[in-house]
Amino acid sequence: MKMSQLYIPTLKETPADAEVISHQLMLRAGLMRKLSSGVYTYLPLGYKVIRKFEDIVREELNKSGAQELLLPALQPAELWEESGRLQNYGPELMRLKDRHGRDFCLGPTHEEVVTDLVRDEVRSYKELPLNLYQIQTKYRDEIRPRFGVLRGREFIMKDAYSFDIDKDGLEESYQNMYNAYCRIFERCGLEFRPVEADTGTIGGDNSHEFMVLAEAGEDIVVYCEECDYAANLELAKSKLEVVKADEEAKELEIIDTPGLTTIDELVEELNIAADKMIKAVLYEVEGQGILALVRGDYEVNDIKLGNLLDVVNLEMASEELYKELNTVKGFTGAINLDDVKIIADELVMSIVNGVAGANKIDKHYVNVNPQRDFEVTEVADIREVKEGEECIHCGGKLKLTPGIEVGQVFKLETKYSEALNATFLDENGKSQVMEMGCYGIGITRTIAATIEQNHDEYGIIWPKALAPYLVEILPLGNNDDVIEKSAQIYDELTAAGIDVLLDDRKERAGVKFNDADLIGCPLRITVGARSLKEGNLEAKIRKTGEEFNINLEEYLAQIK
Ligand code: ATP
Ligand code: MG
Ligand code: MG
Ligand code: MG
Repeated sequence: MKMSQLYIPTLKETPADAEVISHQLMLRAGLMRKLSSGVYTYLPLGYKVIRKFEDIVREELNKSGAQELLLPALQPAELWEESGRLQNYGPELMRLKDRHGRDFCLGPTHEEVVTDLVRDEVRSYKELPLNLYQIQTKYRDEIRPRFGVLRGREFIMKDAYSFDIDKDGLEESYQNMYNAYCRIFERCGLEFRPVEADTGTIGGDNSHEFMVLAEAGEDIVVYCEECDYAANLELAKSKLEVVKADEEAKELEIIDTPGLTTIDELVEELNIAADKMIKAVLYEVEGQGILALVRGDYEVNDIKLGNLLDVVNLEMASEELYKELNTVKGFTGAINLDDVKIIADELVMSIVNGVAGANKIDKHYVNVNPQRDFEVTEVADIREVKEGEECIHCGGKLKLTPGIEVGQVFKLETKYSEALNATFLDENGKSQVMEMGCYGIGITRTIAATIEQNHDEYGIIWPKALAPYLVEILPLGNNDDVIEKSAQIYDELTAAGIDVLLDDRKERAGVKFNDADLIGCPLRITVGARSLKEGNLEAKIRKTGEEFNINLEEYLAQIK
């Protein structure tokens, strides 16, 4: 590509509203422009990087046996009604009506749509396993769109869904995707960590998030220096709580609850009155003026597992909060953050006759009494997992570091297949529910995360795999030899299948050098009259800053 023809509006100044470096550099290097809050146009250079990443994702997923399709972004609300998520998904779901008044939403994710597809088409175990994926624009009405494409309201995601005949099959599909994810992020040259993630239900290894380690990360990764334990802080806190609770829970009655996982199911089975359950536990999400509202199926687990089911902005949702709190015995009124914290602690203290989640599969505790069975005050303390704390696996020291969630793999098991009745006939002609997994990668978020990890004060430093152009040719001045030689190199490299950018603009050398650093192609080749006479080109590696001459005759072989 010749730069004189490329639509690449670079900026000298850092845009005022861009807080994090990737956001600043994506605007400055002409990768994207904002249309409205959380909604961006990808300019030619930015889109080229996106496609490079998409190709890597495609290659690795195809290799792993997944098949690409494209599901509709516009989804009928009935399908979400059927899965129960029309209400549960909350205000993040972009809802709309058609001209006939029928309800629709713009897909934030596609479990419903893909399960609907498969339930209608797949009949027999012979057609399984199946893994379907797409790369598509997703819509989420994020409460706080920010940091450019790190948290957008419209963003590109790769989402895959696996369908298996049984748990073993699901395990295999999950591992397969987990490995593909590792290969994808390795190929991008990213420093990342797969970490245990909170699934909102009981169970340890049902989900992993892939975290790119970077200061701008909104998640905190807890990892152990001695063993390979790594988890999202949310989960790490809850794991510690589980361990504590387990130690203290010796006097609890443990009952076998085969096949029951959620508290709701158990309540139904045991016919326990719902009002005996804990109604809500609230706590502040660090420093953000945001409250986590924890409730529903997982309420008892929350004491131990700390599930974060719903995050609400206090100002915006105080009415909702009031309603929720008013269902709680003893709640009396005015609300500010401090009050809420006190209320939360009191709530925990006032739990009676609780039922605790299955810390082991197919087991529940009944008659949990927090004051009697474990110390409630610990709950608040344990939530603060601190640097240097003991690892629950090996006793080593825990470390905390911010991370950007670029991907997540998740064993859904039969959550959606059951709700939407996605069944197949097994070898014996018996109807069985499919075991599902879902696997997401934030395409646009990964690009931003890459920049968070690969930049310096002058601009982006693209890893080779994602660079829009591998080589930038930078002719100095108007010397005929220089112009001719630059064009020749450009043609030769292009013919050799290398993505090359030629800065043929009539700009001063300083401007060109600055833009080259900003755009961040891995290799810069400067063509100047003096070195040409000596038979040389000047090369500079963007990442290391290393500069050296390359012989004209040999340059092609060297670049490859
Ligand atoms: P987060 O915790 O950051 O809100 P999530 O857990 O809600 O993300 P998933 O539902 O797991 O996201 O979606 C799969 C992937 O899509 C995420 O791992 C992330 O890379 C990407 N993603 C999610 N939300 C956004 C967003 N608002 N903007 C850009 N990418 C996103
Ligand atoms: Mg989210
Ligand atoms: Mg997340
Ligand atoms: Mg996630």
